[in-house]
Amino acid sequence: MTVPAHEPHLENADGFAGDPDGFQRLWTPHRMVYIGGQDKPTDDAPGDGCPFCRIPGLSDEDGLVVARGGFAYVVMNLYPYNSGHVLVCPYRHVADYADLSTDETREVAELTQTAMRVIREVAAPAGFNIGMNQGAVAGAGIAAHLHQHLVPRWDGDSNFLPIVARSRALPELLSDTRAGLAAAWPVPPLHAPERG
Ligand SMILES: [Zn+2]
Repeated sequence: MTVPAHEPHLENADGFAGDPDGFQRLWTPHRMVYIGGQDKPTDDAPGDGCPFCRIPGLSDEDGLVVARGGFAYVVMNLYPYNSGHVLVCPYRHVADYADLSTDETREVAELTQTAMRVIREVAAPAGFNIGMNQGAVAGAGIAAHLHQHLVPRWDGDSNFLPIVARSRALPELLSDTRAGLAAAWPVPPLHAPERG
């Protein structure tokens, strides 16, 4: 679709976390933080080539990190299905949910629960979609490093835009959403990093 220069612009934000999809998105505020680097890994290896490995080494602001636990962390999805779409990722580069340790499994679950409470407090959604895509065949854009999606839903959020224009209007910048969620996140975190 064509967007005049004075209209909301399309995203240009390489480096954030998330699964690229076919949707274009309209950002209503006329600014966007920009972080260098590619958000798509070049291979399945851990390390700087994997955004979910790289992000914890960034500041919360640069990495769009909402909260950090001892085994997992919460980050804004660069390719949100809706405002407030976050991902819960283990720090460890692991692809298969069945391979998570007990500590990782518990903390991914607890961070998801806390994120639900925080998003309810901040944005009062009517519901959520929660889940993870296991394997590229199941829709995972970054299959090598698992990540649980948490997508807040509001009545009427599935309007005509995705169907007509393959676009979704997102009324709030990711950086602003991150700051709002992080400010509402309970302190201290669920598990201190030194915990075993
Ligand atoms: Zn990784």
